[in-house]
Amino acid sequence: MFIDSHCHLDHLDLEPYNNNLDLALNAAREQGVTGFLLIGIDFNKFNQLIDIKGKYSDVWLSIGCHPLSEELGEQAGFKRAQLEALAADSNVVAVGETGLDYHYAPEKKEFQMRAFQAHFEVAATERKPIIIHSRSAVEDTLDLMSQYREKVTGVLHCFTESWEMAEAAIEMGYYISLSGIVTFRNAEALREVAKRVPQDRLLIETDSPWLAPVPHRGKKNEPKYLPEVAKCIAELRDTSVEAIAEATSANFYRLFDIEPPLNPS
Ligand SMILES: [Zn+2]
Repeated sequence: MFIDSHCHLDHLDLEPYNNNLDLALNAAREQGVTGFLLIGIDFNKFNQLIDIKGKYSDVWLSIGCHPLSEELGEQAGFKRAQLEALAADSNVVAVGETGLDYHYAPEKKEFQMRAFQAHFEVAATERKPIIIHSRSAVEDTLDLMSQYREKVTGVLHCFTESWEMAEAAIEMGYYISLSGIVTFRNAEALREVAKRVPQDRLLIETDSPWLAPVPHRGKKNEPKYLPEVAKCIAELRDTSVEAIAEATSANFYRLFDIEPPLNPS
């Protein structure tokens, strides 16, 4: 019933699962997580990502170059051709994650911008949604989104910015995805955003293996913790966890143009 709209399954800590991804996914399924969007950020691991995707009918795949990737640098031009080829693969439902992070890598601003724009162009050509990481780069992010607004929509993932940014994105047709950060003690402003996002534009994610929600904060994150995010949002919005699960799953299928299963459990 919950769909993890953003998880890096190829980066999970599988030690507690005997290095077996099956078991990690089963642990999540037991908690009601019925779908996983695997966010691929390593072009060179693409075959491995395709293998994972091919094994499970509840795993979908996205591909992009993370703004903090070490590969993002002088070779941005070369990577673009690679991105074009990989994003065209019929196994891939979205382009990203991509975006801008001026908090951790302000010195890479120019490369980030160039790569971000390339992702928009590929998303437009492939008619696939874009998955955006944006940190301390509100203006430039909204600028590019606006330049491509006729052709591309998508999601602001792991959203941590202001309501004003969320509102501008929603206005352009985007979705807002909330991670475990919404459960953090100091995330008061984000919880206000969580109350205001229209129900039909909300997604939930773990961003695992990073950012485990309370009460698991500090541990390695995994998709089985996703219900904690949904519970927190349900409380804030004074609704049931089931309602959040149902709405965010429907939103997920709509945005990524995926046929929902006939018998959702
Ligand atoms: Zn991510």
